[in-house]
Amino acid sequence: MWKSLGRREQPVAAVIGLTCDSDPDGRRVFLNSAYVAAIYQAGGIPLLLPSGSKEMAEEYLKIIDGLLLTGGGDVDPRLYGEEPKEGLGRVVRERDEFELYITRRALFLGKPILAICRGMQLLNVAAGGTLYQDIVRELGSSLHNPGGPRHALHHRVEIQPGTLLGRWLGGQVGVNSMHHQAVRSLGQGLRVSATSEDGVIEAIEGTGEVFVVGVQWHPEELTNFYPEQHKLFKNFVAAAHVSI
Ligand code: MN
Repeated sequence: MWKSLGRREQPVAAVIGLTCDSDPDGRRVFLNSAYVAAIYQAGGIPLLLPSGSKEMAEEYLKIIDGLLLTGGGDVDPRLYGEEPKEGLGRVVRERDEFELYITRRALFLGKPILAICRGMQLLNVAAGGTLYQDIVRELGSSLHNPGGPRHALHHRVEIQPGTLLGRWLGGQVGVNSMHHQAVRSLGQGLRVSATSEDGVIEAIEGTGEVFVVGVQWHPEELTNFYPEQHKLFKNFVAAAHVSI
């Protein structure tokens, strides 16, 4: 993987915690290396955060300057007050509970958060929001999980003016898409910053002063092809550095 890391920008010494996936029995923890590369290229120090107890989360929070909520399986719908419906995918309850805890604590402590795909959904649930368990069944949209290369652009998103995202990416941008769930009702302290043509929420951000940004696409897979996507990581790492 080190060959794919590429040239690093001026290091700013911000430590970014990256949440990890695991298999259902918890025997292995893992993470796509594209997340690590994107943070490193943006000048941050990536630190992997395997799911664990609240005590572990508190220890992590003493070290990290920013929190990257990464992609993965579905959030257990019981955690936002719904029973599982047909179409719900793989759920790892221990990961959900750990990430909800560390996200709420990071929000409370004012640590910058970048949330990607499942991470954005998790951020929304942490703030009291809900999700569509399966976009195809509940919205009838097949726009969002077409398969193919992870860096291929699948659809466009319309970005709201006056948002952080709009400042970096302009009014419209092409994105990749590998999700079957989406934000339904928005959590507290969040606003919509981008949508796709079928009305699916594609990005959210915090309404406060602290950097809190969620995107439904995978910018970490795009930075080598579409440099504008690098701005997400660059601004995130810069915000984490300022918060030290
Ligand atoms: Mn999409």
